[in-house]
Amino acid sequence: MFKETDIRPQELMKGQAERLAADINRLLKHKNNFVNVACPACGSNESHKTYEKHEIQFVVCDRCETVYANPRPRPEHLEEYYTQSENYAYWNKYIFPASEVVRREKIFKPRVQAVIEICQKLNIPTNTLLEVGAGFGIFCEEVQKTEVFHRIIGVEPTPDLAQTCRDRGIETIENPIEKIDFGNEIIDVIVNFEVIEHLFSPKDFLAKCYELLSDRGILIITCPNSKGFDIATLGKQSSAVDNEHLNLFNINSLTMLFESCGFEVIDRQTPGKLDAELVRKQILLGEFDVANQPFLKEVLIDKWDQIGESFQNFLSKNLLSSNMLLVGQKVR
Ligand SMILES: [Zn+2]
Repeated sequence: MFKETDIRPQELMKGQAERLAADINRLLKHKNNFVNVACPACGSNESHKTYEKHEIQFVVCDRCETVYANPRPRPEHLEEYYTQSENYAYWNKYIFPASEVVRREKIFKPRVQAVIEICQKLNIPTNTLLEVGAGFGIFCEEVQKTEVFHRIIGVEPTPDLAQTCRDRGIETIENPIEKIDFGNEIIDVIVNFEVIEHLFSPKDFLAKCYELLSDRGILIITCPNSKGFDIATLGKQSSAVDNEHLNLFNINSLTMLFESCGFEVIDRQTPGKLDAELVRKQILLGEFDVANQPFLKEVLIDKWDQIGESFQNFLSKNLLSSNMLLVGQKVR
């Protein structure tokens, strides 16, 4: 079974915690300038407070149940946060290299397979694929190996990461997506993994993806699902609730957002594999009390070796994992 510590080596995570704290302090210096926003999924202004974490207030939309940071940092302060982040620099230097082999096998190769299966199932042309947020370029590199797509483009605005992508032989655009214009270029498939939850305006991002896609082209997005098992169970104790994840959609609310941007949602999955283990870890650390949760104690502690894996598979298969994947097709 694939373990959380395989992708987040424990000793390195301690060094990371200090850098993250410094980043958060830098972000909170702008707290007086945080702005109120409507629900990033449905646009409603009706919401109620849920939890606060790292001094950031989260609310739940009364209409679609999206959990979102409100008020939130302005776009220019988010840009400053990511470009000056000590945590990302540390991650890039130590954690990612230490876990690259496992990540490639357990995360990126299955992702490539999922994208190719979706294209085949839906008969999507495979001329050009664009990845927004290409990072270290592992996904692009793996998809290139399959030779399914004729042209693969990575969009990566962070200079160091863009260089890493180019070093891997990937056609790389070192600009934010808003500044990209392909003219008559035809993009069949746009993918982005764990990006949309970080954005000030997910709707603007989806509108830009729509503009870049060819007719019948598809957009594939993965992000946290706030109604999935570990986030719904742990609430603010979930590692998915943090200062960077401003938008925690659920399957239905992200579907609404896709539809409002002109996409037809043609596939929804929750491929997440870590929910049960993340909750179990909190219980074992004494951070999450199951004294009054006999069912969780039985499944996640007492019978873990026998049924833990099949419980996780049940969550993944039934749209109950906290990591979701949506596919939208450009129809209008
Ligand atoms: Zn909403």
